[in-house]
Amino acid sequence: MWMLLSGQSTQSAGNLLSADERAWLNAHPNISLTMWDDYAPISFKGEDGKLQGFMPDYIKLLESKLNYKFKQVVPTKEESHSSGKRSAHEDVISLLADTQDRRVYWSFTPTLLSFPLNIVARNDAPKDLTLSQLNNMKLSVVQGYASQEFVQENYPQIKLDLVNNTCQGLQHVAFHESVAILTDLPVASWCLKTQGLIDIKVAGQSEFKYEMSLAVRNDWPILFTIIQKGMKAVSKSERQALQNRWLDQGAFEQSWMYSNRVWLIALVLFLLLSALIRVYVWDSNMQSNVLHRITNVSDDDKKLEQISDVSSGLTTRILILLCIILTLLGTLITTEQWVSHQDRVLLGVLVATLMLVMLFGGYKLGSIRRNEENQSLFEQLASQIKTRQMAEKSAKEQTLRLFKQQKAIQILTQTQTQKTTEEIFKEITQVSAETLNVERVSIWLLDSDKQMLECVDLYLKTKSLHTTANPLLAKELPEYFQFISQNRVLAANDVIAHPSTVEFRQGYAQENNIGAILDGSIWLNGNMIGAVCCEHTTDSREWTLDEQGFVGSICDVVRLTIETDRRRSAEQALLQHSEELEVMVEARTLSLQESEQRLTSVIKYAPIPILTIKMDGEIIEFNPEAERVTGFSRSEAIGKNFIDIFVVKESFKKAIGIGIGTKRGEAFRNVELIFKCADGRKIEFECSIVKAGKNGVSDVGQMIAIGQDITQKKVLQASLIKARESAESADRIKSMFVASMSHELRTPLNSIIGFLGVVLQGMSGDLNTKQKDQLGRAYHSAKHLLSLISDVIDISKIEAGFLEIHTESFALKPMFNEVVNVIHHIADGKHLNLQIDCSEDIILETDRKRLYQAILNVVSNAVKYTEAGSVTVEAKIINEELIITTQDTGIGISPSGLEQLFKPFERAESHLKIKTLGTGLGLYLTRKILTQLLGGSIEVESQVGVGSTFTIRVPVKISEQTLLNNQSILEDQPL
Ligand code: ADP
Repeated sequence: MWMLLSGQSTQSAGNLLSADERAWLNAHPNISLTMWDDYAPISFKGEDGKLQGFMPDYIKLLESKLNYKFKQVVPTKEESHSSGKRSAHEDVISLLADTQDRRVYWSFTPTLLSFPLNIVARNDAPKDLTLSQLNNMKLSVVQGYASQEFVQENYPQIKLDLVNNTCQGLQHVAFHESVAILTDLPVASWCLKTQGLIDIKVAGQSEFKYEMSLAVRNDWPILFTIIQKGMKAVSKSERQALQNRWLDQGAFEQSWMYSNRVWLIALVLFLLLSALIRVYVWDSNMQSNVLHRITNVSDDDKKLEQISDVSSGLTTRILILLCIILTLLGTLITTEQWVSHQDRVLLGVLVATLMLVMLFGGYKLGSIRRNEENQSLFEQLASQIKTRQMAEKSAKEQTLRLFKQQKAIQILTQTQTQKTTEEIFKEITQVSAETLNVERVSIWLLDSDKQMLECVDLYLKTKSLHTTANPLLAKELPEYFQFISQNRVLAANDVIAHPSTVEFRQGYAQENNIGAILDGSIWLNGNMIGAVCCEHTTDSREWTLDEQGFVGSICDVVRLTIETDRRRSAEQALLQHSEELEVMVEARTLSLQESEQRLTSVIKYAPIPILTIKMDGEIIEFNPEAERVTGFSRSEAIGKNFIDIFVVKESFKKAIGIGIGTKRGEAFRNVELIFKCADGRKIEFECSIVKAGKNGVSDVGQMIAIGQDITQKKVLQASLIKARESAESADRIKSMFVASMSHELRTPLNSIIGFLGVVLQGMSGDLNTKQKDQLGRAYHSAKHLLSLISDVIDISKIEAGFLEIHTESFALKPMFNEVVNVIHHIADGKHLNLQIDCSEDIILETDRKRLYQAILNVVSNAVKYTEAGSVTVEAKIINEELIITTQDTGIGISPSGLEQLFKPFERAESHLKIKTLGTGLGLYLTRKILTQLLGGSIEVESQVGVGSTFTIRVPVKISEQTLLNNQSILEDQPL
């Protein structure tokens, strides 16, 4: 800055003036320049006698610019320029106020110095004094100065105290010779300083000011131009420096400046102090205050702001900056009057740097302390607040999500009734995808075998597309199927990481770029019937609890939809069914009507009496046959009580019992009751009575009674019973007769046989051959007759119930030996192989004689009707039953022979019929013995020419029941 100023000041003087001007100047080497010697500090004589002050310095500058030296002269006392006249030797006057009078002789350069004229008075004078207030008062003015002219013209009433110079005027004021002096401040200030006057102040201002210029004799215009050029060459800063040096406000400003400096110092000290307190003391204390204050701040953001502020020391830094700015400003403002511009800037920068160093040093210390003491506390607090903010944020997000979810469920449940199931499914997937903000939402239903999930709708959010997917198979995804069939929600934040969705990794999830799955299972009546699948693509996703709950709700909506669908179908089916039912009912009604008509006709034309009776006995229907049989007309019978009108006293009880039984639902068939007819006759009725349904709305049923007049039948029955009884008695008598007759026959026959035997054996003498032969035939015939009689007797006894059972315990084998003894000679005669297979162990408890009779008959038949071959008898016990099989290789029996086999006196046709003796009673008797006496049976299988097999079965021990039966038969006998 100084370089620049000096550069300006050394502007080339040579170039300043034109050649003419320079030539002119050279032609006028002694141009005089009048300089005042009593106008301090502008131009005055110093102690060394030389002129000094603002103006001499300025002229020196001017001379150096013009490169010309004026001849400086000091005016004499007599010379006054108040009239404006010019002395002959005066060429230039330094500093002259521009007045009209003076222009006659002088040309004035632009104003060089301009001072307002102030009213300077003693300290006790009032403030803001004006000239008009000084009317009739004494005002000092310097004689010949422009001020004199100004006051005289404008304020003629003011008494003028004309003084030689300003200093004198000030003395007048100080010593009360005048009230005030009208003067410019630099001069007044100079006087105060040099003369040591006190108690003087600037009391006010006048509207007049000195505007002083250089005055050049107006007949030398070229000089005027030259001087103007020289003045222009003087730079502002050069002139300012001169002003600063000479024209300060002097004494007037002392007190003011003094106080300003005090204030400035005070301000700087205050700022420094406050900054230091702020940094060293308050800053650390503030942290605890901040802690306290932060806890009271409700807004978390503000809290964090304050924590970060106190942590970073932002407030401190702002305060420091403020201090610096204030200090700088304060420095600049307060030093304006007494320090040069450059100095002020320098001073400001120095102060600011000082403060900066101090404050930042202090701040650094403070922040170290702060770090040590409270940093962790602040960090904790900040982290707590951040945690809370995050929690609040997530709570807000959750609330928003819940609201959206609630809205979605509301939409889905409200619109159900107007849409088809497919439309509802589509809406569910779409709304779910929007609400959960997932790419894919699908609904799957389980097949009846629970082995496959079939996709009913899949919504792709980005494409806004409804589609379907391939079925999911349980055998391929066992873990997944098991999980969803046991849990309501499957939340897989990462498909690959979750054990139940890892199966999707290779196929489904990879194909569709699925990252996370949120599935809900659909349940109906305790069974899992399907699933809702929400799939997030590209990356993993953490499913919140509310989202999981939402999927559960969506599953419920799907279940509702399915239920509604099923209900609708059921209702439709029901409707259809009820329509069909109506048709059926109509048809049934028609057929019922027809059937009723038929029934009515049947009742009407039935040849038996039919009555319909209420449960209380009232007759409600009475058919024509009933009218005919009873003699009562329909109108007489209907409405009457059945018992009152028909039933005779003896049958009362029975009839009432039947009524009660029918009421209970019992049916009575062929019940006999005695009725009375209209003409008093009694007739016997055989009735069938049954409950026949309800009577109208009341639960009192009806009964239908169908009767038959059995009076005739009864008579017939009685005679029949009588006939049968007499027949039975005759039969028994016959049997008894035969039995007793047979007995009577057998006794003489035995005697005949006995005697014939004796004769044949030759005991009564020798017989010739002819006698022997004839007696032999008689003997055999008698024997045959005896056998026949024996059989007849046995049969008769059995039929008449005379044959007693004699139970005994015996071995079977000896019995077979006896049988063989009887028949072996016949078998041997035919060379038959007779084989008996019977264990020694078989012990029986039955009637030995009758069993022997049966076995002998069957075995002897086998030998009789077998001409060659063998007869094999086998006995065994199975399940407490003796089974004897007799197998022969005989002639066999034809089917027609088999039919007649067990009938009396029946002998099958064969070539042996004549050859072999027989009665045709053997098997008949055998069967009677086995079945009626021993409780057994006999069966036969036979083939003509091949042989026959007879099987006898008897209980090992004769049963008690068989014995009892036989006993009762015996007891019943009239004999
Ligand atoms: P009978 O032997 O006295 O004639 P049965 O009542 O014992 O009387 O037998 C009736 C008939 O059954 C016999 O006449 C015979 O024709 C036939 N019959 C019985 N046993 C046999 C048999 N084992 N083989 C062939 N026919 C038989």
